[in-house]
Amino acid sequence: MNKNKLIVLLAVVCLLFCSCQTEPAEPSERELFLQSNGLTVEQKSQLLGKSILLDAGHGFADIGCTFPGGAPFEREITLILTQKIKAVLESDGIAVWLTHDGETFLSRDGLEQLAETLGYDMDAYLQNLITSHSGREGEEVQNTLTAFWAGVNDDETFDTFERCFYANLCGRQQPMSLYVSVHVNASVNNPLASGFDLFTCSDTPYDGKSRGAADAVKDALKHGFADTNARVKTYGWDDAYVVTKYPDMPSVLVESGFSTNETDAANLQNEAWQDAFARAVADGIELYLLGY
Ligand SMILES: [Zn+2]
Repeated sequence: MNKNKLIVLLAVVCLLFCSCQTEPAEPSERELFLQSNGLTVEQKSQLLGKSILLDAGHGFADIGCTFPGGAPFEREITLILTQKIKAVLESDGIAVWLTHDGETFLSRDGLEQLAETLGYDMDAYLQNLITSHSGREGEEVQNTLTAFWAGVNDDETFDTFERCFYANLCGRQQPMSLYVSVHVNASVNNPLASGFDLFTCSDTPYDGKSRGAADAVKDALKHGFADTNARVKTYGWDDAYVVTKYPDMPSVLVESGFSTNETDAANLQNEAWQDAFARAVADGIELYLLGY
C-alpha cells in the first residue's frame, strides 16, 4: 500500500470512528414533558378549553371483578381512580366530564329524552359507522344495530352500549377530545399476569387518534412505573371492546392492573399508588392533547 492510499484509508477509518461517536440523541418533546415537573404556562394555555370524557368501568348493580377476600370490587376501584384522574386533569385546566359519578346514571328513557332535546340521531351514526367500518354488510349491519339497541335498556346496570350512547350525547354538548374507560383486569387461571393493558379498536374513524392516545398513556405509565408492564392492544371490530368502537370520538380502555395478582391487587388499593397512577394517566392524556 502506498502512502496516499494509507492516508485515505486512515481518513475513512477516522470518519467512521467519529460518526459512531455521535452525541446521545436529544430527548424528544415527549420525554422532556415526562421528565418535567408540572406544565409550562404555554402548555397550560394549550390545554385550556379541551374536554375529555372519563368512564369508571362497571358500577351500580355491576360490580365488575372481585379482589381476594371478596372486597373491594372493581366497581369501587374504577370510581376512585377515575375521580383522581379527573382531579389532576382539572387542576391542569382540562374540562372533564364523567359518564357517571357512582350515584346516578341515565337509563334508556333518560338517554332517549336527552337525544331528542339535542336533536341527536344515534341510530344514523351507528348505521354509518357499521356500514363504513365494521366490514359487515346487508343483514349483518341490521343484526349489529339490533344487538346495540338491545344493550340500551332499563335494567339496574349502566351497560357499555348505554355508555357509548351517553358519550355521543356528551359530545353533542361539548366537543370531546377523548373517551377513557378505566377498568381492573382479572386472570383467575394466571395469578402471575400483571400490569397495564390499553385497548383500542382499529375499525373506527378514530383509529389513529385512539392509538396515539393509548401510546401516550402507555409511555406515561412506563415513565411512572418502570418495573410494570404496559401494553397497547388494538383489535378489529369483532374483538374490540364495546366502549372502544361506538363512541364518536377517540377512545381508549385502560386496564389498571390485575385483581388476581398479589402485587397489583395491593397497589390498586393503596392510596399513594392510586395517586401516582392517576398522575401518570393524566400525563398521558395531556401528552396526547398537546400533540407530543
Ligand atoms: Zn372491567
